[in-house]
Amino acid sequence: MIVTENLTKRYGAMTAVDDVSFVARAGAVTGFLGPNGAGKSTAMRMMTALTPPTSGRALVLGREYRDIPNPGRHVGVMLDASAQHVGRTGGEVLRLVAMQLGLGKDAVPAALARVGLSAKEADRRVRNYSLGMRQRLGLAGALLGDPQVLILDEPANGLDPQGIHWMRTLLRDFADRGGTVLLSSHLLHEVEIVADELVMIGNGRIVAQGSKAELLGSR
Ligand code: ADP
Ligand code: ADP
Repeated sequence: MIVTENLTKRYGAMTAVDDVSFVARAGAVTGFLGPNGAGKSTAMRMMTALTPPTSGRALVLGREYRDIPNPGRHVGVMLDASAQHVGRTGGEVLRLVAMQLGLGKDAVPAALARVGLSAKEADRRVRNYSLGMRQRLGLAGALLGDPQVLILDEPANGLDPQGIHWMRTLLRDFADRGGTVLLSSHLLHEVEIVADELVMIGNGRIVAQGSKAELLGSR
């Protein structure tokens, strides 16, 4: 579960995230929806201790992220697929993550299989990957530690329709096994099929939140 309480981030006079409170519960996919610049990434960066809140807090599995022991074993994070180590191969990237998490050798092939990257693709350098392949690689890294929570920033960016369908199936399955999924998007259609709950944000503020049925009705 993820809980944010009055989470706020200011940059000078600009409030990027403004008093944001919501719960993303276990067993559900929560879509975090809002236009570019709405504050989604900044909120996710605060949830994962990459930037401190100006005020308020975010709890993941009942704790602040920085207080979670070996957080990669509990929380899978994918914030910016374009920021990967482009000079390394996909396999190398995952082996490094696996080492940091203290995982055995089998974790990497298992994660590659889970996201549909072949051994041949894993041997290519990330700079030669399409954005869709980078998203798959990022998701493989997030899944490596077998986490209970996934925090994914725009994971559908660059995926083709088949890739989007694949990701939906994976996230649905993850939530159905009791996991917590928070996924951001600026496109309603990317999240509305898979999300159970929606948190909608604009100019740093929550504009609506609730179950998909409450917010969108039966469409
Ligand atoms: P989103 O992820 O919804 O596209 P962001 O969280 O990236 O939105 O950005 C929210 C707002 O905060 C934007 O106006 C962005 O330019 C601003 N912002 C984000 N990070 C910083 C920063 N480090 N310094 C100043 N402004 C920032
Ligand atoms: P995204 O589009 O994935 O939300 P951004 O391009 O907004 O990411 O942000 C990428 C990085 O640049 C982040 O570290 C963010 O804090 C920083 N950043 C974003 N907007 C600004 C800004 N207006 N001023 C300074 N830094 C910014």
